[in-house]
Amino acid sequence: MSENVSDTVKTWNASVLTLFPDAFPGILSQSIIGAAQKNRIWALETVDIRNFAANKHRNVDDTPAGGGPGMVIKPDIAAAAIDSVAPMGRPIIYMTPRGTPLTQKRVRELAAGPGLIVFCGRFEGLDQRVIEARQMEEVSIGDFVLAGGEIAAQAMLEACVRLLPGVLGDACSAEQESFEDGLLEYPLYTRPREWEGRNIPEVLLSGDHKKIASWQTEQKEEITKARRPDLYKAYLDRAKNTKGDNHEHD
Ligand code: SAM
Repeated sequence: MSENVSDTVKTWNASVLTLFPDAFPGILSQSIIGAAQKNRIWALETVDIRNFAANKHRNVDDTPAGGGPGMVIKPDIAAAAIDSVAPMGRPIIYMTPRGTPLTQKRVRELAAGPGLIVFCGRFEGLDQRVIEARQMEEVSIGDFVLAGGEIAAQAMLEACVRLLPGVLGDACSAEQESFEDGLLEYPLYTRPREWEGRNIPEVLLSGDHKKIASWQTEQKEEITKARRPDLYKAYLDRAKNTKGDNHEHD
């Protein structure tokens, strides 16, 4: 009899602190991520930051010290929300555009841990003192500014959860994806063989797995070189360090 994954693997726990709890689970309730939650591979707790507001207007923010636009989330309220959650050895992550850009490498590390506590910012952001006092890790999902941390949190959680054991159907599919070997993915094709006058590259129909693999590697290298010279340079440096520089690149 096959064992249920949830019987053998410990649940990965996500706690999300937000001013918009209705935004969750959002997309995380769908497809393989939603199914994984039902199977108790991961669990989601949502905490409404506003529940920790002290005054009768339930204000959570105040004007920035030193002036400037917008409002700042107050440290005492943010800390009370964070402290209401059982730590369980989890990192506390503050989603912010000024954070360290999220990478697949960091996603893998986070997925391998017990889970995450995620703080979603709003307004201009969060008082610096609570970031320091609660040793929050500042994470960005890209060089652009969203109105709040909720979509960023969902993006990060989705990236982590899909790597948990038992979530992806085909165990290989995560290993062959963009970033896993430092390169972007090769182009994908499926039937029909010809569509609007465009053909699937012959090599992919050849059945020669060696040729296919080397075509895919070439494509990955070309695409990465053109689109992400930073990744391509790191890939070349790694290749140099591991094998000696016997690989031909221009
Ligand atoms: N004043 C901030 C700045 O200049 O960096 C931008 C604040 S933004 C309007 C409000 C909230 O959205 C942030 O506190 C953060 O939680 C979230 N956010 C916006 N862009 C993000 C990004 N690229 N990555 C992660 N979180 C982001």
